[in-house]
Amino acid sequence: MLRFLPLTVLLFAGAVSAAPKKALIIDGRNNHDWKATTPVLKQILEEGGLFKVEVLTAPPDNASLANFKPDFAPYDLIVLNYNDFGPKNAGDWPQATQEAFLEYVRKGGGVVSYHAADNAFPKWVEFNKVIGLGGWSGRNEKDGPYIRWKDGKVFRDMSPGRGGSHGPRHSFVIEIREPNHPVTKGLPLKFMHHTDELYDRLRGPAENLELLATAFSAPEQKGTGEHEPMLFTIRYGKGRIFHTTLGHDVEAMRCVGFIVTLQRGSEWAATGKVKQKVPKDFPAADKVSLRDFR
Ligand code: ZN
Repeated sequence: MLRFLPLTVLLFAGAVSAAPKKALIIDGRNNHDWKATTPVLKQILEEGGLFKVEVLTAPPDNASLANFKPDFAPYDLIVLNYNDFGPKNAGDWPQATQEAFLEYVRKGGGVVSYHAADNAFPKWVEFNKVIGLGGWSGRNEKDGPYIRWKDGKVFRDMSPGRGGSHGPRHSFVIEIREPNHPVTKGLPLKFMHHTDELYDRLRGPAENLELLATAFSAPEQKGTGEHEPMLFTIRYGKGRIFHTTLGHDVEAMRCVGFIVTLQRGSEWAATGKVKQKVPKDFPAADKVSLRDFR
């Protein structure tokens, strides 16, 4: 029954009363359907009164980025829905924009790296420290370890190999590995995620990274046989980063587990705290829970 209720109704009960924080979604280049996913990200962040969201769309593929110089400073949160697979990573931001972004994070700005945003900027060393782990775009052992959950703890796997892969999309269980972080506190320790890509083999510097949740990448789904990182945080300077590998498309984003972890991760990245309550329609270990977007 819950899946047919509008998001507005469902989120009203968990609304927070403080003035909304300012968020900026950056899109415009992505090998995913950013035109479809950005409005959903915006709706998820705005409902409940947590954020007032603006969108900045970069010039289209093959256009010059020379004048792409966002002012990051006014925002509490930057949400990255951006990557570029053009020749020679043509979507690299101008040097001044890169420096402004890093300055924003160092001074305490919040960042969300959403799904394929971690494919971006393979050669930008400091960006990879901000997102912790990335995939594709030529990444391999030179970029850092794989991060896996093994024998009850985080394992930094330095074995050689490609960075970034996934099998066919399917529904899979997400397991919370750090239940005492503000983002995960109060969530069930396992929940079933709606059909999505299960990112595996991500690699990166993984400095100041806290692993919050993993999923088992099953060999029968062309996976690695490892517990792969799904949700994690990174600290960079005074900044807080929430990285979700989930949400390939709008269908995957209907998962209440995706919606709620994005909201909680965003609140934590922007404020350092999480005041939202866990909604009653949060998925169980054996059953997905979905919402519809207006
Ligand atoms: Zn994807």
